[in-house]
Amino acid sequence: MKEKFDAIVIGAGPAGCACGYTLARAGMQVLVVERGKFAGAKNMWGGAFYGPTLGDLIPNFWEEAPFERYIACHRFSALSKDSCLSAEFTTPKFSEPPYNGVTILRSKFDRWFATKVEEMGAIVATGLEAEELIWDGNFIAGIEASGDELPASVIVSCEGVNSVIAEKAGIKNKSKARDVKQGIKEVIALPRETINQRFNLTGNEGIAWEFIGSFTRGLPGGGFIYSNKDSLSVGIVVQLNALAEKQVKANDILEDFKAHPYITRLIDGGKLLEYSAHLVPVSGINVMPKLYRDGFLVTGDAAGFVVGTGLILEGANFAVASGIAAAETVIRAKQKEDFSESSLAYYQELLEKSFILKDLKTFKEAPHFLENPRIYSLYPDLACDLAEKLLTNDGKPRKKVWKHLREATSNKVSLFQIAWELLKAVKTI
Ligand SMILES: Cc1cc2nc3c(=O)[nH]c(=O)nc-3n(C[C@H](O)[C@H](O)[C@H](O)COP(=O)(O)OP(=O)(O)OC[C@H]3O[C@@H](n4cnc5c(N)ncnc54)[C@H](O)[C@@H]3O)c2cc1C
Repeated sequence: MKEKFDAIVIGAGPAGCACGYTLARAGMQVLVVERGKFAGAKNMWGGAFYGPTLGDLIPNFWEEAPFERYIACHRFSALSKDSCLSAEFTTPKFSEPPYNGVTILRSKFDRWFATKVEEMGAIVATGLEAEELIWDGNFIAGIEASGDELPASVIVSCEGVNSVIAEKAGIKNKSKARDVKQGIKEVIALPRETINQRFNLTGNEGIAWEFIGSFTRGLPGGGFIYSNKDSLSVGIVVQLNALAEKQVKANDILEDFKAHPYITRLIDGGKLLEYSAHLVPVSGINVMPKLYRDGFLVTGDAAGFVVGTGLILEGANFAVASGIAAAETVIRAKQKEDFSESSLAYYQELLEKSFILKDLKTFKEAPHFLENPRIYSLYPDLACDLAEKLLTNDGKPRKKVWKHLREATSNKVSLFQIAWELLKAVKTI
């Protein structure tokens, strides 16, 4: 008779590690299976971890976690063909622990997090892929991996956006191209001092910089630069169905982004260290699957717990918080020896109370709003054009802003439409 685990967690990303850690801390027999050679081997993101969630689990995590820099500065830019208009926010509060956000490289961070899970007493089996589910009537009773049957009282899917096992559990369908964005990222090495000079940073200060503009060729998406210790994470995310419809390669958009005169000088002289691609679910609560069934729970990206408002993209904190909520549900179910759907419904209650479902509901309209192509080409062009008109001194008499605005928008879009869409942006985001 094989050992039966209290829980098997599929995936050692942020959701799986948070779940495994919480379960092991409560003394449960936990197996975390991770298909990568090591945790984080194939994982990528932008990436900045925002908020206190990780600190709730591992107090003072910043003292030992391999984070790169704390985010002291947020910058947002609109790029036209050759111009750039920016807004920036910085406050000394973001430079004090517990930090509002930290930049992270997943290969280092996930590996560290998985080690913490092991230290807490869970087994983390890397290079092992969950391939099938074992069924006992309506109950999910284990997984098959590398030809082995591994029984457990409950399975927690923390497998990310390509959640084949959650699909096999019958609680979600394959993601549609409209509901995911394609992310591509390069990690570019530069000396620390060069990064600090180019981005106006000192010490371990970092920047999270988001871009929209004509480089996405009007397709919904944007670019980003995050500063690490001795490297930059430079990438783009673009709606997958739009790429397919317009027959554009995501990599060409990344190349256009890097070739913009404003970006080129930020990465000049850098050495490519890493190139990676990954999908990110973006439709949020609008396509959220059922989150539990007899012997099964789903968390993180597998459940579509990501909020993208155009200003910020957050998924890792949702993954950690939902991993913890799933673990708390399993701990309670174990006390009652009841892993049925009605017992696991407690997970939904926890999610309703936390920021997870509240934020997903608050920004429910954002995915639809962000499909508007004018946001990605026309408006950045207009903003840069207007800034140029306002700031150029060509020796001619100056005009009022209103007149410039009318000239810049004529034949392109009505002022009424701009006002209406601005209002919608404020209401949605
Ligand atoms: C380009 C890009 C930029 C992003 N930027 C940010 C950002 O700046 N901030 C932010 O908060 N979020 C960001 N995100 C989103 C964030 O990366 C995710 O929300 C987060 O990683 C979700 O964590 P997870 O644990 O649910 O899934 P994942 O991180 O995807 O982890 C899933 C794990 O499961 C493993 N796995 C999958 N299937 C199996 C299987 N069958 N058997 C065994 N193992 C399996 C995988 O190998 C992986 O390790 C970004 C995403 C992308 C793509």
